[in-house]
Amino acid sequence: MIKKGKKLYEGKAKILYAAPEKGTAIQHFKDDATAFNNQKKATIEGKGILNNRISEHILSSLNQIGIQTHLIKRINMREQLIKLVEIIPIEFVIRNIATGSLTKRLAIEEGTVLEKPLLEFCYKNDSLGDPLIAREHIYAFNYCDVTTLNFITKQCFRINDFLQGMFKGIGIKLVDFKLEFGIARKDQANSLNDKILLADEISPDTCRLWDSASEKKLDKDIFRKDLGSLIEGYQEVARRLDILHEQSNVRPIKFSRPTAVKIKKK
Ligand code: UDP
Repeated sequence: MIKKGKKLYEGKAKILYAAPEKGTAIQHFKDDATAFNNQKKATIEGKGILNNRISEHILSSLNQIGIQTHLIKRINMREQLIKLVEIIPIEFVIRNIATGSLTKRLAIEEGTVLEKPLLEFCYKNDSLGDPLIAREHIYAFNYCDVTTLNFITKQCFRINDFLQGMFKGIGIKLVDFKLEFGIARKDQANSLNDKILLADEISPDTCRLWDSASEKKLDKDIFRKDLGSLIEGYQEVARRLDILHEQSNVRPIKFSRPTAVKIKKK
């Protein structure tokens, strides 16, 4: 068993703990769900377990095609051992179909299939509501350098290409998703490929996933828009990825409904 050290950071859906080996950490997936920049909150039993497993599966699959990630291994139902990286303060959003903030911002019709994938940059800052920024802001405020940004841009499109195909094979449209990257410690990195690691998570919390035939939502929009059981959507994704059997062989997991839904008034 890997001994968990002190809490390093707590975010909305995950907690980072120190791990015994230098340069590593334990990423713990919580059951907390938030939306609309923290205005809507709930605890959804089992969400963290599903995201831990789904994200492990996706990051490992990406690793097999040569995308370096922070994931070392999953260590239990809720936790993964990861390489500690310095997160670049940019959310990289890749879109294949218009929905969400894009439709509102530019009055693009919901569901419009984009001619080619669109990459957007958002400055990772909750108090500012993660504003959309241009490449020029990234350079002007030194969020990352040109070489790093060019490398990440290529990685984003490679990842999109792979994931689109992977989901298509299981009857799911990858509508859009968010990626984060981090810089590895110097002694862990020899090349650009070892230095800039895909970090955070890729799960139905960070992707929009629609059933190909019915366009039924299987992602966090179920929670954002009160469309039914979020767990059923996430379980459906895990089931189609063929990664649900481990847990369900032992004992069917029964998840209850959200315990609390609070909407803060501004
Ligand atoms: N996204 C995310 N975290 C964020 C913002 C966005 O994971 O802090 C994901 C979101 O789940 C979606 C994509 O990025 O898959 C595009 O999100 P959009 O900008 O449309 O977000 P909205 O404003 O509609 O929530």
